[in-house]
Amino acid sequence: MNSYFAPLILILLVLAIWFAWRYYDLKRRIDGYTNLIRNQPANLPTRLKGLEDLSGGIASLKSSLEFQLSTLDSETYRLSTVLEQLTDGVLIADSNGQVQFANPAACKLFDTKNPLKHSVAEVVRNHQLIEAWRRCQQTRETQSESVELPVRRQFLQLVIIPDTHEGGSLLLVQDLTRVRRLETVRRDFISNVSHELRTPLASLKALTETLQNGALSDPTAGPRFLGRISTEVDALSQMAQELLDLSRIESGQVELIRSQLTPKILLSTAADRMKMQTERAGLKLTVECDDRLPYFNIDKSRLEQVLVNLIHNSVKFTKPGGQITLEAKSVPDGIRCAVKDTGVGIPSESLTRIFERFYRVDRSRTGSGTGLGLSISKHIVEAHGGKIWAESEEGNGSTIFFEIPI
Ligand code: ADP
Repeated sequence: MNSYFAPLILILLVLAIWFAWRYYDLKRRIDGYTNLIRNQPANLPTRLKGLEDLSGGIASLKSSLEFQLSTLDSETYRLSTVLEQLTDGVLIADSNGQVQFANPAACKLFDTKNPLKHSVAEVVRNHQLIEAWRRCQQTRETQSESVELPVRRQFLQLVIIPDTHEGGSLLLVQDLTRVRRLETVRRDFISNVSHELRTPLASLKALTETLQNGALSDPTAGPRFLGRISTEVDALSQMAQELLDLSRIESGQVELIRSQLTPKILLSTAADRMKMQTERAGLKLTVECDDRLPYFNIDKSRLEQVLVNLIHNSVKFTKPGGQITLEAKSVPDGIRCAVKDTGVGIPSESLTRIFERFYRVDRSRTGSGTGLGLSISKHIVEAHGGKIWAESEEGNGSTIFFEIPI
């Protein structure tokens, strides 16, 4: 029995010594690390340092990634704000022609609420623009097309740029309606001015030629032709002055010199200036205005010019024996003035057009001028923040109102 125990005890002893040694070794190493960490952190083992470097690297990578993500976020935000605020339309279509992105301007220009996942053709709804997009898809070259949409009274320009990576395309839409309208106005203006100049110039030429051919020595015809020349020259200088006024007012060069004034004083001063002319035309001019109306802050000479223009028109278009009345009254938004006459009246279709430059109801009407007076008046009233309009019944007189806010 003893012969069995002896090796067993030996094995157990060896095991006990081994465990004791392992425990001692482990404790010694832990104590060593603890001492190192406590007393000499600079001499930490290389492996431990490597681990520390790695974790430091991961931390800096994390913060750089976070920084890049936040930069990307703010870039995306900035880009989406720009696209949202852009007045030009932007559409992005994939290679199948499905719209993947549309900014609000594009939705507005193409009059659609939700263009996403619809085809370019469904959104654009114009065969010229669709053709341009097809050309771009086939040739992979930038295409541009301009179209007029008569129903929507719009003039659009579309530029289609191929997307080289995805096979899709970027569609940029510009609304050129305003630019076109301004171009038309400018063209019309030049043609109107040349037309208006041609008539008096032609008659001046004819009159001088007649005088040169002998009428100058004729005691009756000579002075008559000279008188007509003088009238034509007056008309020309009036037109030149009105054009100058109009261009100054339109380009904002005229600054209003405002002062406090009662409506009664404004109407009376204008009436006094036109008194002689109205009497000569056989017309009666009266002012109907409450003295107690509040003061308004206006450019006196400019608004007087408006009233003189309006009274002058009433004189031109009212038969002798007629009546012209100047009125002013208080309204919720300010002071409303009116020049009322018992003249020929204005046809309803011309009531808004008479404020356009060079517009005249009937060019053959006697007394018709350059067609600029009401246009100038409108600009002056609008410069005061007010509005002007006409009411009339053909054959039963006209009233031109203007309202100035207090
Ligand atoms: P004009 O120098 O020809 O009078 P305006 O711009 O002052 O130019 O007026 C434009 C046109 O409006 C006139 O040519 C005339 O046909 C019409 N009109 C303006 N005021 C009156 C009015 N009181 N009665 C009738 N027609 C008027």
